[in-house]
Amino acid sequence: MDKEQIKNLAKNPKFISGIYNYCDRWCERCEFTSRCMNYAMCEDKFDTPKSRDMNNKVFWDKMQGIFSVTIEMAKEAAGKMGIDLNSIDFEEAEKHEKQVHEFSKNQPYSKIAFEYIDMVKRWFDSNEKLLEEKAQELLTHFEAEIPGTKPVDEAIKIKDCLEIVRWYQHQIYVKLCRAASGTIRGELEEIEYCQEDADGSAKVAIIGIERSISAWGGLLDHFPQQEQEVLNILVKLKTLLKLVEISFPNARAFVRPGFDT
Ligand code: SF4
Repeated sequence: MDKEQIKNLAKNPKFISGIYNYCDRWCERCEFTSRCMNYAMCEDKFDTPKSRDMNNKVFWDKMQGIFSVTIEMAKEAAGKMGIDLNSIDFEEAEKHEKQVHEFSKNQPYSKIAFEYIDMVKRWFDSNEKLLEEKAQELLTHFEAEIPGTKPVDEAIKIKDCLEIVRWYQHQIYVKLCRAASGTIRGELEEIEYCQEDADGSAKVAIIGIERSISAWGGLLDHFPQQEQEVLNILVKLKTLLKLVEISFPNARAFVRPGFDT
């Protein structure tokens, strides 16, 4: 898809402007795929198994194509805004970006979100056998048709909880770093919109935290022997949630295009 095709696509009124900026990128579960331009572009670009495989050259060729078009469009937009990209002091810009990065990852909520990533990893690493045993147990119940058991329902619920935990495991941290960077950019660059964008990212993080809390609660029902470990994780998530709400008091009120309109 070239620059002109993207511009034409953007004119299609069926797409909700900017919906992909504050979503959780879980397209398989998204009810707005038909109204998302980002989804349409990905479907167009990554339309074969090879093009979706990070280990395949086709994938990277496609990525290269996207970067080239993006750079071309960024240059065009800069020109329209009267910005001369050649006049940018890249050394200064790099220093600035490092400052933003340091600020973002050193916020208390970012640190907790980072710790959470590790907690989840450790839980999965140490419970590989438990999950295998559970799968085996449910299979046995299914084959034996034991009355009073619903192995298929249980398997679906567990799988769902595990997928939710995995989906948001890293995303919460990423979204919070983005939110933090919006805050500091707003201050350093005096751009009002940055704080609003930060609130939007924080809202996506909050949703991820809340869904993760529910998913861990679900896992606790199926793995009561894991009570202490899961409770520790829940405490971490609840602490994180509180901290994010204090740091971004306007986040919940942020209106995400499509999802909240
Ligand atoms: S809005 Fe939905 S379809 Fe579009 S990128 Fe986000 S999750 Fe995917």
